[in-house]
Amino acid sequence: MNSDLVTVQAPAKINLQLSVGPVRTDGFHDLVTVFHAIDLCDTITVRDNENISGAEFGITVTGEGARFVPEDASNLAVKAAALLAQHHGITRTATIEIDKRIPVAGGMAGGSADAAGVLIACDRLWELHTPMTVLEQLAAQLGSDIPFSLHGGTAIGTGRGEVLSPVIATGEFHWVIALMDGGLSTPKVYAECDRLRAENVQAENQPSVSEPLLMALRQGDPELLARSLTNDLQPAAISLMPKLGRVIDTGLELGALAGIVSGSGPTCVFLAKDKDASIGLAAELAGSGVCRTVRTASGPVQGPR
Ligand code: ATP
Repeated sequence: MNSDLVTVQAPAKINLQLSVGPVRTDGFHDLVTVFHAIDLCDTITVRDNENISGAEFGITVTGEGARFVPEDASNLAVKAAALLAQHHGITRTATIEIDKRIPVAGGMAGGSADAAGVLIACDRLWELHTPMTVLEQLAAQLGSDIPFSLHGGTAIGTGRGEVLSPVIATGEFHWVIALMDGGLSTPKVYAECDRLRAENVQAENQPSVSEPLLMALRQGDPELLARSLTNDLQPAAISLMPKLGRVIDTGLELGALAGIVSGSGPTCVFLAKDKDASIGLAAELAGSGVCRTVRTASGPVQGPR
């Protein structure tokens, strides 16, 4: 069916494990990470510009942190749409609307979610039927987290995070998300991680995937999962934004099974025993005043749909 408008929900990710290896010669770090997509989603609508002669890509951004997101060709969502058109050798353009719920520069791969969402949405809009393997290659060209954002679910990421392997996971996990004022730049957090390691404050491990974490996911057991959550970037994020330590302590005092900084931060995520516990924890955490605002979410969820 031909349609001149497609809307997708693009989920955020959290890292259940984020192990950072030594810095490589290309400046990136080798990672071993376990990605997990949760139902905190940006809503993306793409409209075809076919009837507007000579129209370029257009973009408008509303919602959470919209004022920090560029509304021009530097937006990852526009880059994704342009790359898809270029790959197929077509001159089509689109107008993209993003209603954000994923915090900007929050360590939840919001820009990557938008790029992955636009790849899926424009592929449908322009009826290109691009094979998933090709979409994955385009995604990897756009950014390290984007191949995972395309798939969703739970997956191991190696290399810069772009090489994915499946994980067997059962059940559903319930999360409370603490959103902070301001963001953290991912490159600055990695640089701080390197600085702390050079000072020997933080040991540098050769990364490998955590077997207890994989077992917790296979069993769908939140108590086991809580004991296996790790993030090598957490000391660096807390060093740059010390109040994150207080946020995590408060969530744990309020009964979270575990709490960690999400990716490069500053968003913090807490694992709850079940959905009811997540709602109670969210209310108490919001009342504690340690963070700007609070959301609940569950995972895993599929990629943009
Ligand atoms: P990372 O994927 O590196 O962990 P993050 O989740 O911390 O990133 P994002 O929300 O993806 O952070 O934003 C990182 C930067 O990318 C922001 O400074 C923002 O201005 C820019 N950006 C470009 N396009 C987008 C987009 N569609 N949504 C959000 N940010 C975008």
